[in-house]
Amino acid sequence: MSDKIKIAVIGATGSVGTSVLDICSHFPQIFDVKALAAKSNSKKLTELGRKFSAETLCLTAPDEHNPKYDNFRYLSGVAGLEYIVSECDIDHVVFASSGVAAIPALQKALSRGINVSLANKESIVVAGPWVMPLVKHKNQLRPVDSEHSAVWQCLRDAPKEEISRIWLTASGGPFRSFTAEQLKNVKPEDALHHPVWKMGAKITIDSATLMNKGIECIEAMQLFGMPSDKVGALIHPTSQIHGMAEFIDGTVKLLMSPADMRLACAAAMAWPKRLPVADKVLPPLEVSSWDLTFTEINEKLFPCYTLAREAGKKGGAYPSVLIGADESAVRHFLNHEITFTDIADVINETLETFSGSAPKTLDDAISLVAAGERIADELCKKRRHK
Ligand code: NDP
Ligand code: MG
Repeated sequence: MSDKIKIAVIGATGSVGTSVLDICSHFPQIFDVKALAAKSNSKKLTELGRKFSAETLCLTAPDEHNPKYDNFRYLSGVAGLEYIVSECDIDHVVFASSGVAAIPALQKALSRGINVSLANKESIVVAGPWVMPLVKHKNQLRPVDSEHSAVWQCLRDAPKEEISRIWLTASGGPFRSFTAEQLKNVKPEDALHHPVWKMGAKITIDSATLMNKGIECIEAMQLFGMPSDKVGALIHPTSQIHGMAEFIDGTVKLLMSPADMRLACAAAMAWPKRLPVADKVLPPLEVSSWDLTFTEINEKLFPCYTLAREAGKKGGAYPSVLIGADESAVRHFLNHEITFTDIADVINETLETFSGSAPKTLDDAISLVAAGERIADELCKKRRHK
């Protein structure tokens, strides 16, 4: 019997999915790719299916021109994702899709007891209260977002009462040293160039507005069960340190590594083993030449960070509404329909306009994402016609 890790990758065609599959291709003696899923990119998914000899492929929103998949079990729709985690012969699933479509599959995977590597931050921000209680054993749910992976690796099962604070770092994005005036003129093409990380378009824009860091604070609150005031974020432009944990005895653990998502993916996928992944190391003898500075986030210039922090602190409906509003505002910005600084204004107005109550069920929480998106769509439309 093979003792390989039988793995499924949801979001296989995206940026994180590519890092995950790069690990799988370098360590075929460890990982056996059984199932791959994406939204609609049938060509790439088929190529990947062939390359990794996957048994099952799933597209949640296939278009009518999809080719036939010979030799594969082909599934479609979000029910296909649920089938993969419930019925396929796998012991690990990576959630590297964007958006909230994979939440039910994430729940099913945890309930079934299989290990989960989680890159998708929207799902935990929206559904944390319905996802975290399903974790069956320690380290079943392993963060892939690089800052959370760093904190997770620093904490290493420390009891909560021994942790005084956790910190996430931020490169500050491409506009870290811009003035308010300069920010008004930022175009999508400028914002799509992140100085450190190569990522999907949505998260790259979120990194430029620092919404990503605010969302990551909520993600950390959910993943590590910490209140808002024990989760902090700092600008660290060289992105050598990704996260830190402060303990009650005064010890601070910092995780330093090359800025390469494959490290965070491998740490989660192979835990508790480490794999030889990095192309380069950070030799400690060169430490004196490293720039290990940390500064506070300029919340006046980057109000999206503050909006997300406040939504996380208020809880209830706000994190879901924020996620929906951000999805809409970023899409309209990428379509050149609103300006870069409009993104924060639209999200702020959406949160102020919203008047519903806290979700009682997961379905409520997911429908609040759509509600946030709808309100923001209207606000973007008004701005476009100004
Ligand atoms: P990309 O836009 O590069 O890729 C998104 C992937 O998700 C694609 O495979 C896409 O399929 C798939 N997908 C989108 N919607 C669905 C759906 N409804 N059902 C199934 N699959 C779907 O995104 P990233 O890889 O950048 O990000 C993925 C997630 O990881 C996000 O939540 C992001 O916030 C998080 N993350 C990303 C990091 C990064 O370095 N990129 C770092 C940390 C976290 P298709 O190609 O068919 O559209
Ligand atoms: Mg991150």
